[in-house]
Amino acid sequence: MRAVVTERRDLTGDLWIVRVRPDDPLAFRAGQYVSIGLPSQDKLIERPYSIVSSPDEPELEFFFELVPHGELTPRLYEVAAGGEVYLRRSAKGLFVYDHASSHKHHFMVATVTGVAPYASIVRQFVANARKGAAIPAHITILEAASLSAELGYDAEFAGYAQEFEWFDYIATVSRPWVDTAWAGERGRAEDVLRKHLDAAGCDPADTTAYLCGHPQMVANGQGILERAGLPGKSIKSELFWVSTQKAAEA
Ligand SMILES: Cc1cc2nc3c(=O)[nH]c(=O)nc-3n(C[C@H](O)[C@H](O)[C@H](O)COP(=O)(O)OP(=O)(O)OC[C@H]3O[C@@H](n4cnc5c(N)ncnc54)[C@H](O)[C@@H]3O)c2cc1C
Repeated sequence: MRAVVTERRDLTGDLWIVRVRPDDPLAFRAGQYVSIGLPSQDKLIERPYSIVSSPDEPELEFFFELVPHGELTPRLYEVAAGGEVYLRRSAKGLFVYDHASSHKHHFMVATVTGVAPYASIVRQFVANARKGAAIPAHITILEAASLSAELGYDAEFAGYAQEFEWFDYIATVSRPWVDTAWAGERGRAEDVLRKHLDAAGCDPADTTAYLCGHPQMVANGQGILERAGLPGKSIKSELFWVSTQKAAEA
């Protein structure tokens, strides 16, 4: 179906956030993705994108990274507010909040656009909490980027962390020597994951961890979480792409 871009916010030269209004409502669970497409000659080029907005919001939000030699993102990058994209009518994916385990701790790790599914999940909890619902778990988001300008949702998450006891947000920047004003955590997600997992009091038997985004971070994060004692079934991951080396090996 068609969706009109109602808003666009560029964070850097290769990262941007859009809100779209689809012709018909799209039902989805927080954390899921939908395929977005644009026509090229006689075909539609489609790729999956995690939905940032919560299922309660009237518009859909996405956080895109430009892959300069990619097939779709250079075309998506050209779509300004008022422009159109196409969406599949059904959302997919199992990278959703783990209600089933009843775990107390939910520790979510992202690189850059990998924060999208967590934003959807947390926005839904925030909406419920503001209606008076009790949130029976503690959620931590650890978001990593090269530079602070790439942290698409830091102000929003920092606000939630101030407002709600059940939520914590940690941002880490891996090139602080370029980002000289940055006063927060320094290093890659992998460098600081174990420290913050322990600081949040995440008992491995009572924690679900989530890894999303860069394939190398997901692979390294998996190892760190396993060494911290989390069983495999308590680690959920979503790879946004497969590295060329891995693809060649497969
Ligand atoms: C479940 C799921 C959810 C996703 N959600 C998002 C999202 O919210 N935001 C988002 O920007 N992307 C997301 N992606 C990635 C997205 O689907 C595309 O792969 C990406 O936008 C590149 O598309 P392209 O057509 O421009 O590049 P392609 O032509 O598909 O890829 C060209 C090459 O670049 C590699 N590549 C793809 N993405 C990257 C990257 N970010 N950095 C480096 N190399 C890359 C590919 O492996 C390939 O070798 C998601 C992927 C999956 C599987």
